[in-house]
Amino acid sequence: MPIFVMTIRLRLTLWYTALLGATLILFSVLVYGLLAANLWTQMRQNAVRQADEIVDLLTQQLLRTQQLIVIRDSGFGFPELDLFTSGAGAQVINNDGAVYLRSENLGGMSVPDYRQALPNIRRGLDHIYYTENAEHVPFLVYSEPLVVNKYIWGAVQIVQPIDSVRNTLNQVSRYLILGTALSLVLAAIVGALLAHRALAPIGAITETAGSITRTRDLGRRLQISDQSSEVGLLAATFNDMLDRIQKLFETQDRLIADVSHELRTPLTTIQGNVELLERMVTSNAVTNGHSQQAQGLLQETLGEVQHETDRMSKMINDLLLLAQADSGAIQLQWAPVEMDTLLLEVYRQTKRIAELRKGVNALEIRLGHEDQALVWGDRERLRQIMLNLTDNAVKYTPEGGVVTLALSNEEHWVKIAVSDTGIGIHPDHQAQIFERFYRTDKARSRELGGSGLGLSIVQWIAQAHNGRITVESVPQQGSTFTLWLPELEGRP
Ligand code: ADP
Repeated sequence: MPIFVMTIRLRLTLWYTALLGATLILFSVLVYGLLAANLWTQMRQNAVRQADEIVDLLTQQLLRTQQLIVIRDSGFGFPELDLFTSGAGAQVINNDGAVYLRSENLGGMSVPDYRQALPNIRRGLDHIYYTENAEHVPFLVYSEPLVVNKYIWGAVQIVQPIDSVRNTLNQVSRYLILGTALSLVLAAIVGALLAHRALAPIGAITETAGSITRTRDLGRRLQISDQSSEVGLLAATFNDMLDRIQKLFETQDRLIADVSHELRTPLTTIQGNVELLERMVTSNAVTNGHSQQAQGLLQETLGEVQHETDRMSKMINDLLLLAQADSGAIQLQWAPVEMDTLLLEVYRQTKRIAELRKGVNALEIRLGHEDQALVWGDRERLRQIMLNLTDNAVKYTPEGGVVTLALSNEEHWVKIAVSDTGIGIHPDHQAQIFERFYRTDKARSRELGGSGLGLSIVQWIAQAHNGRITVESVPQQGSTFTLWLPELEGRP
């Protein structure tokens, strides 16, 4: 199941966009609110101003005529309505709600609900309400009482269409929403690009660090473009750390190589001398007639010394090989290698080793399925790892067991399998046996002359050939080590 990873880049972009979004929404709400308040106030003020004007005119007439009906019949003219409120109409009602006068632009339209202003008017108060006509055109109806000499005659009602204000506000809100959405999309893109640019050096650092780990090439360093930036400082610190690690590794490799070298010479001398002593003991025993017991003890001791020096010598050789491999000092002799022929040679060698180690017919060494296969590699190194595997199989398989060597081709890979019916490896140990000096049973390995370095060498050589080594094993039933090597295409 894919795991959703919240990268810093994504997080930065989201934060950036969210903050900008919040600011824009706040700004839009504020702009819209102020504009709406302003337009509505203006609209009301206009209505009030016009109502005032008409009330003034009517008051003068009423003072003279004392009757609304007379004013109507004398053809009262409403003052010209200004441009902004064009479309606004007016009507005059008496205190019972009867309509006395209507401006022409009201046409045939009766003002919906106009009587709702009456309670206010009768108390001498103005009144405002919003309504719609039959065509759903929205209106504001402002009613101002017509009071002359403390007598409330009725009211002047200004009927002001407000669709222009609504349209303006709708349009503004559409623009604001669209603008906010567009700005957010733009901000997200720009934010992602900026975050990408800012974090690109970190990606490069991760990439290089990963490739250093993969290739184990401690000589590589990160490119530093800007030493003063945070990322530049990180890269510089990382490079310093690599310097130190590289020095440490070099010192360690040199130490192992030097120590191995230094130990090899005295060890060879010891081995030579032990052999000489063994021969002397045998011949002296014959001539001097030492007691059989003393001779047996001496031979046993010398045998042990020889076993240990052999083991030490093997370990030193293996250590030296690994140290050289680590420092890149090993040059492989590349050539096409016929693996089937090599397998046959290893098979014969294994038979001899098994006889030497376990005695004649103690183990059965078998040749299983064998394809023809060609790989590009170093024949002697390949022989060495195959022998390491068969040597282990022989070592860890009790008498009466079977060791089988097989070779097969599988989708551009050559598979060399060494199977045994031996003690097997517990699943907990299987991943670690390729580590240096890792042994599942130290005492047993030591007794069998093991150094714990054999499989590390196998793995190194397999990887140097762009191959790999895998293991399948069941405790007390046996193990199969498989060496995978890339097939050399176009064999002759
Ligand atoms: P060693 O010199 O001890 O054999 P290796 O590196 O060759 O060292 O192997 C590491 C360990 O893996 C061994 O000590 C042993 O415990 C285990 N091992 C390797 N091959 C086999 C095998 N064929 N059967 C059982 N155990 C094995």
